[in-house]
Amino acid sequence: MPDLPVLLQIGSFTTRMADQLAPRFEILSLFEAPDRAALLAARGADVVAICTDGHWGIPDDVFEACPKLQVAASYGVGYDGIDVERALSRGILVSHTPDVLNDEVAATALMLWFAVARRLVLQDAWARSGTWERRGNAPLTQTVVRRQVGVLGFGRIGQTIARLAEAHGATVHYHARSRRDAPQIFHPNPVALAHAVDVLIVITPGGSETRHLVNRPVLDALGPEGILINVARGSVVDEDALVSALVDGRLGGAGLDVFADEPTIPEAIKSLENVVLTPHIGSATYETRAAMGDLVCDNLIKWLQDGTLKTPVPECAALLA
Ligand code: NAP
Repeated sequence: MPDLPVLLQIGSFTTRMADQLAPRFEILSLFEAPDRAALLAARGADVVAICTDGHWGIPDDVFEACPKLQVAASYGVGYDGIDVERALSRGILVSHTPDVLNDEVAATALMLWFAVARRLVLQDAWARSGTWERRGNAPLTQTVVRRQVGVLGFGRIGQTIARLAEAHGATVHYHARSRRDAPQIFHPNPVALAHAVDVLIVITPGGSETRHLVNRPVLDALGPEGILINVARGSVVDEDALVSALVDGRLGGAGLDVFADEPTIPEAIKSLENVVLTPHIGSATYETRAAMGDLVCDNLIKWLQDGTLKTPVPECAALLA
C-alpha cells in the first residue's frame, strides 16, 4: 500500500473526525507529541495538510517546519487566528466551516440576551438558596418580547439572529459595512445602531478591522437600560470601556461568550452582577460540533480527490480559480 499523505492535527479533533480521516491520511498529533519541536523536526517535511481551528491557526513553527504544506482545514467559521495572507503567499489553501453553526450561535446569542434581561442567574440563586421563602418574590425584570434589537455584523449568523429575534416580536436593526437588500433597518455606523436599540448583539468577524468597534461612544449610545451581547470575538469590544460602563451604570448589562484574552477573563468582569458569562460555547453542542467536524473532513477529502475545497475562505478564490 502506498504511503498515505501526512496530516498534522492541531487542536480540536473528535473520534468521529479520526474515523473519517484515518483511512486516508497518516495523522500526526502536534499536542499529543511528547516533544513538539522533535516531531516537527522529524516529520514536518512530510506534512501536506493540517487540521486546525480558529484559536490555534497555523503556528509559526508549523509554517516553518512544513515546506510542503498545501491545505489547512479549520474547525470553525471565524479564521482571524489564521494568517491567511501568509498561507496564500505559500500557495496553502484554507477552509473553514460556515453555515452549519448559524442556528446554534444565534441561539446562544438569544440565550445570553434572555439570561441577562430576565436575570436568570439571580433568579436561579433566589429559587435555590431559600431567598424566595425568606424574602418573597424576586425583583421584576426587563421583557425580551417586542424589543428593538441591533445586530452588529449582518452576515450568515447575524441574519439568523434577526430571524430568531423576530420570532419574539423584535424590530431588528443592523450595521455592516455594506447595506443589505433586507427588510431590517440599516444604520450607517455602530453608534447610530446602538442609539436605536434596547439590545446590541455583536457578530462580526474578529481581527484588526473590527478591533474595538464597540467602544465607549457605542456603549454610551446603548445606555443605562441597554444590554450588550458579544458572541463575535473578544477583540471587537473594548473590554476596559465595557467594565467602566457597567460599573458606572452607563450600561444596563452584558452577556459575553468571548473575551479579549481568553480563556483568561478579567476579575473586574467576573465580579460584576449585571453580566452573564459563557466560556466561548457559541457552537459547542454535540450536534453542531459533529456537523463542523464533518465539514472539516469533507474539505480534506475533496482536496485529496480534486485539489479543491468545499468551503474555502473567500480569500482563497484566486488560488482556486
Ligand atoms: P459572515 O457571514 O462573514 O458575516 C460577517 C458580517 O460582519 C458581515 O455582515 C460583514 O458585512 C460584517 N462585517 C465585517 N467587517 C465589518 C466591519 N469592519 N464593520 C462592520 N461590519 C463588518 O460571518 P458569520 O458566519 O456570520 O460569522 C461571524 C463571526 O462570528 C465569525 O467570524 C466569528 O468571529 C464569530 N463566531 C463566534 C462563535 C462563537 O462561538 N462565539 C461561533 C461562530 C462564529 P460587511 O462585509 O458588509 O461589513
